[in-house]
Amino acid sequence: MDHKVQGEHRTRDIGIRVYSPPNIHFWQPSPSARHFPRLFFTMLTVLQGSRLIDPSAPGAKPGGTIADLWWRDGYLIKAPEKGTVADQTIDGSGCITMAGGIDLHTHIGGGKITLARMLLGDQMPPWREATRVNGEDAASCEFLPSASVTASRYLDMGYTTCFEPAVIPCNARSAHAEMADIRGLDTGGYCLLGNDDVLLRLIADDEPQEVINAYVAWMVQATRCIAVKVVNPGGINAFKFNEREMDVDTQHPKYGITPGQIIRVLCRAVSEIGLRHPLHVHCSNLGVPGNIDSTLATIRAADGYPIHLTHAQFHSYGTEGPYKFSSSAAKLADALKANPNVTLDVGQIQFGQTVTISADAMHQFDNRNLAKPRKSVLLDIECEAGCGVVPFKYARREFVHSLQWAIGLELFLMVDNPSRVFLTTDHPNGGPFTAYPHLIALLTDRSLRETALSEIHSDAAAASSLAGIDREYSLDDIAVMTRSAPASILGLSDRGRLQPGCVADVVVYEENANIETMFRTPRDVFKQGVRIRSRGQNVETATAARRDSTLVASVEVDPTYVPKFRDMHARTGTFAMDRLQISKGEMDDVIGTRLVETTWPENQDG
Ligand SMILES: [Zn+2]
Repeated sequence: MDHKVQGEHRTRDIGIRVYSPPNIHFWQPSPSARHFPRLFFTMLTVLQGSRLIDPSAPGAKPGGTIADLWWRDGYLIKAPEKGTVADQTIDGSGCITMAGGIDLHTHIGGGKITLARMLLGDQMPPWREATRVNGEDAASCEFLPSASVTASRYLDMGYTTCFEPAVIPCNARSAHAEMADIRGLDTGGYCLLGNDDVLLRLIADDEPQEVINAYVAWMVQATRCIAVKVVNPGGINAFKFNEREMDVDTQHPKYGITPGQIIRVLCRAVSEIGLRHPLHVHCSNLGVPGNIDSTLATIRAADGYPIHLTHAQFHSYGTEGPYKFSSSAAKLADALKANPNVTLDVGQIQFGQTVTISADAMHQFDNRNLAKPRKSVLLDIECEAGCGVVPFKYARREFVHSLQWAIGLELFLMVDNPSRVFLTTDHPNGGPFTAYPHLIALLTDRSLRETALSEIHSDAAAASSLAGIDREYSLDDIAVMTRSAPASILGLSDRGRLQPGCVADVVVYEENANIETMFRTPRDVFKQGVRIRSRGQNVETATAARRDSTLVASVEVDPTYVPKFRDMHARTGTFAMDRLQISKGEMDDVIGTRLVETTWPENQDG
C-alpha cells in the first residue's frame, strides 16, 4: 500500500507554521562549512500502524507489535499525548519496521580498495561508459562499488551504519575520507595494531600493561577509530623476516614473542582503556586446513577478556575426510558455549567472482597461486602492517568452496544466540555485502537452504551437517543480529533499536512472504528522521546538505609515555609519529565528516 505524507509541516512548540512540499529537508546547510548544519525548525513525524520489530525493547512480544512510531528532529520519542497532530504522517499498514541495520565488518575504505580497483581495472566500468542515474554511477563493479553506489546499495538493504575494520594508522586519513564520500551512511573504523614494531617491541621488552594501554589509547584517538583490530597477530611482521607460517605459540623471529602474548596483552589493553568493542581478531592461519586449532588457541589466549573473532568461517577448518578439509563449525560453536567472552562474525562466502583484500600478507602470499584472474598485489605498509589483494572466484563445482559456503551457514545456525554471531561476508572477501538479503532468506527458511544445498558439490553437501539443522531464524533474530546486537557490541547506545532517544534511522519493509525480496527493497529508509531512499530511489536531497557521522571511541590518553613512543616510532617509521594524529578540525573541515564520540551507559544492558 502506498503511504501518505501530509504536505503541511508545522511546529507547535515554537508557533511557526511552515508550508512546504512533503519531502522538505529540514537539515539546512550551515553558512560556514566549519559548523554542522543547523536545525531550522522542529518537525514531528509519525509512522502509523506498522509492525515494529525490536526484541531489545522492554516487554517486547515475539514477532513485534503493531503500533505507531514517533520521531522529532531526527530522534525517536515516546508517543505524545492523545490528540497530538504530527507534521508528517506516514501510513505503515502492511509493513514491518526495524531500526537501521549496522554492519560491523565491511571493507569500504582505505588504500587497499583503491589497489584492488587498480589491479582489476578490466572489471571496472570505463569512466566514459558510466552514466548517471538519480545522481549515481549507473554502472559499477558488483564487488568493488564506488562510494556513491556503496551508499545506495547499503541503504537499499536498510543499513544505515557501517564499519571499516582494517584502518592501518598511516592510512586512517584516506580511510575516513573515502567513508565520508559514502553519503547517507554513518561510518567508523577499527585501528589495526599488533604487527607494528612499536607494540611488538613494547611487549618484547616486557613493558608494564599501563605502557601498552597508553600506546593503544594514543593510537585509537589519533586515528579517530572506535575499536582495535589485530590481523594474524605478529604474523604479518614475521613474514617480513621470511616466516611463512605462524601458530599461536610460535615465537616471532626477531621479537621472540608469540601471537598468543600479543592477543592477551591487546585484549587486556582494549578492556582497560574502556573500549566497548572487544579486541577484533583475524586469527592466525587464515584459510589453512586444520586452523580450528589456532582459533581455539586464540580464545584461550584471550584469558577470559572479551574477544571478537572475525570472519570465523575462514578459521573453522579441520583436516578430516578424503579431501583433508572438513568443517569444524561445531567445535567453534561449542567453544562459544563454554566461553561467554567470545563473539564472532561469519564471513559467509557467495559463489561468483570477487576480490580478497587483506592485511594478512603472509596468507595472501600463499593465496596468490589461487588468484583468478591470475594476478595479485602484495606489499608492506610503512612497517605497520601489510596488504594482499588477490582476485578470487568461488565456484560450486569446487569441493572446498562448497564446503566453505556450508561452514558459514553452519556457524550461523549452530551458535544459538543471535547476539553473539553477526551477519558478514567480510565484503568483498567472501562476496559482496549485497548478498545479505539472500543470506537472511537462507537463515529464515530451511527448505530454501535444502534447495541451495542440493546445488553445491555433492561431496561437500554430504560432508556438511547443514541438512540436519532445522533451525530457522525469526524476524526477531534477524533484528538482533543486524541491529541491536551490533549496536551493543560497538557501544552505540543511540541506534540499533526503536526506542525513545535513539536516532531515527528507521527502515520500513513491505511485508512479503519472499524474505529476500522484502529485505532487498525497503519501501522507505529514514536517516536521522529524513526519508532518503524509497524503493531504491533517492527521494530526499537532504543527504547532499547533511554531514554523516564518523563514530569514534571516547578514550583518555595518558601523555606520560608519548615521548618514548615517538622515539621508538622514529626507529622504524618513515615519518614522525605525530603525523598520525588527525585533529577534530581536520575531520570536520578537510575530510568533511562529523566526529561523534560514542558512549555506553554503565547500567545499560547489552
Ligand atoms: Zn575483513
